[in-house]
Parts: sequence; structure tokens; C-alpha cells
Amino acid sequence: MMLPFFRGSLIFLPPNSVTDALAKVVSANNHAFHQYTRGFGHPRLVRALADTYGKVMDRSINPNTEILVSVGAYGALFYAVQGLINPGDEAILIEPYFDCYEPMLKVAGGVPVYIPLKPEVTGKKTRSSADWKLDPDELASKFNEKTKVIFLNNPNNPLGKVYSRSELEMIAELCKKHDVVVFADEVYEWLVYEPSKHIKIATLPGMWERTITIGSGGKMFSATGWKIGWAIGPPYLISCLQTMHQNSNYTISTPLQEAMAMGMEHELPLIGKKECYYSVLPAQIRPKRDRIIKLLSEVGMIATVPDGTYFVVADFSNLDVKLDETSSEPKDYQFTKWLISHKKLAAIPVGAFYSPGNKHLAENLVRFTYIKEDSTLDKLETIIKNW
Ligand code: PMP
Repeated sequence: MMLPFFRGSLIFLPPNSVTDALAKVVSANNHAFHQYTRGFGHPRLVRALADTYGKVMDRSINPNTEILVSVGAYGALFYAVQGLINPGDEAILIEPYFDCYEPMLKVAGGVPVYIPLKPEVTGKKTRSSADWKLDPDELASKFNEKTKVIFLNNPNNPLGKVYSRSELEMIAELCKKHDVVVFADEVYEWLVYEPSKHIKIATLPGMWERTITIGSGGKMFSATGWKIGWAIGPPYLISCLQTMHQNSNYTISTPLQEAMAMGMEHELPLIGKKECYYSVLPAQIRPKRDRIIKLLSEVGMIATVPDGTYFVVADFSNLDVKLDETSSEPKDYQFTKWLISHKKLAAIPVGAFYSPGNKHLAENLVRFTYIKEDSTLDKLETIIKNW
């Protein structure tokens, strides 16, 4: 039986360029596609990645020394943490953060230092992910001689925030001043809604040298099950990840890498054009975003309009739902259970993206995803109408 709500499962099929490529690869009478390939990344894929990101970042990228292919972005994150963090090193985590950062860091003996994004009260009727900001002085106060790394998830899961150039410059200046490395988790780089633009922190002056940019073929091509990810950065940083990779996974699936490379080659001349899959996907998802926001508002939930990703965070504090104020379980966790049992709706408590001490900051917030079939959104509409 197909479960509709696998973690991170997408409703869209990957583009034909990628699925046809995989069919061709596995049916080709070529034994090489069925055997181990180059450990640090299949030659055709690292070349396609170097061409793609060379174009996006406007720099020449060495496919062999500046790229590592991993088991999903998860793999690249794990290698980065294990390869660079020593016990006692501090790492800054911007809240809300993708939940695996903290356990990965702790396994390496690293010490998390938290700073929450704070929503600015704008007086506008609608809330936007861009209202969530870092306080520059507070951020500066988190850096010290033990700080090794800052995790920067841009666009941010769960908020959908896309950092502006001036925000990135502020972070970059602190990293340069304190000699800190950025783990730039940019798996949603293509899922950005116009007029927002995604800027890679590695492209800011002096930042290539200190940034590991992490990407996901699963997000790029709506193929999360393929679990192909990568890290891109200067050779002296990537080599630390390569050592981890060489002694854990050693190499990644050959046919999937070959097919993904063919997909990237197909998109390469189209980058920046409407017909490029990287532009088609956000254009297809945008109406779903607008629809879910409207539906949630009909029952009094206030959505924060995301500039990127396929998530939306909604404030449920206006709803007339009886939650146990005396319970030690946070309200957002209680509310998600209530949603499932009373409304058959699945959401994630946003507190799951916060450190234990800061979970209260998200007590009125839950995260929905809208990368769903229209028929599933129709069901949401029926639930809302009968609320
Ligand atoms: N980073 C973020 C912010 C994510 O949301 C995800 C997947 N949900 C990942 C990394 C992991 O990506 P992958 O599936 O390529 O391992």
C-alpha cells in the first residue's frame, strides 16, 4: 500500500528527462552502469554539477576536488559535521532549524549555540517569511573563539524564509571576522517564488573560501527517493568530507548518478528560462501555496506566506480549541494531535525545529506542506468547509 505522507514524499513525478534517462541507463547493455563508480562522485555527475553550479555561481568549479556526491543532502551534512567539528567546537544554529542538525552536531561532540529568528510586527494584514529576522547584535554575541561553524538553511525549512543580500552580508562579515565556516543547506534553492531571489552565501566576497554548500538532487528533480545529494566548496574543506565518505559509504549508486547527470545536462542550457524544470516546479506549486493559505485563513489560522520551499507555518492561536494549559506537552504538539484526531489533518509542531529552551517561541505554530495533488487539497477544502 502506498502511504501518502511519507516524510518528504512529493506528489510530482521527476521530469521525463530524468526518468527516461534512468530507463535508458538500466536497459543499456553497459556493465559499467551496474558496477561501482568513482567514489567521490560519478564522473558524469560531478561534471554536470560543476557546469550547473559554475553557471549559477559564476565561477569555475573543479569537479574532482570541489564537489562530493553523497547519500542525499543528509549524507553531506553528516560528513560536514563529522569531518570538521571537534569535541568542544561551537556551532551556531538559527532557529527554527532542520531537526537533524542538532543530533548530528552532538554526536561529533560539538556544542550547539542557538539564536532564534524573530518575527517583526509589521502592522501589515498578512505575515511573510521575510518578517522573520535575526537581531544583528544578538547574532554577533554568539560568536567567540570556540565558534567553528554556523548552519544556514536558506530557504529555511519550516518558515520558507529566503535570506536577503543584506542579511547574508551581515552573517558573512561575522564569519570572516571570527574565521567561521558556513554549512549552507540550500536544498530548496530552486523552490523560490518570484519576486524573491535565492542568493548563495558562497558567492559573496570572501565566502567561497569558508562555505560548504549542500544541495539535493531529490529536491531539484522531485525525486527524494533517489537520495542523491552533494557538497560543494574549496578543496581543503571538501577533502575533510571526502575522508568521511571514503570510510563510510565509499561510493553512491551508479545508475542513479548517471541518470541525474543526464537530467542536469538537459536543464543546463535552460537555466534562467521559464521552461527550465527548476523554474517550472515553483511556478506549478505557487497556486497550491496560495490555495492552502486562503483555506487556513477561512478557519482563522494565520499563515506566514513563505517566499520559498513547499511548507507553510500557520498560527492557530485564534482558534477555539481546548488545549490543556497545565500539560507539560507544548500547545503546538497538542494541537497537531487534535488536528489528526478531530479533523484528519496532518501537520508538524514547529517546536520540533527549536531547542528545548526555546520551544515556547513556537507554541502557537504548526507547519503544513502543500506539495500535494489538487485532489488532496480538495479534501482539505472539504474539511475546512465543514470545520
Ligand atoms: N535539509 C533540509 C532543510 C531538508 O528539508 C531536507 C529534507 N527534508 C534535507 C536537508 C535532506 O535532503 P535529502 O533528502 O537530499 O537527504
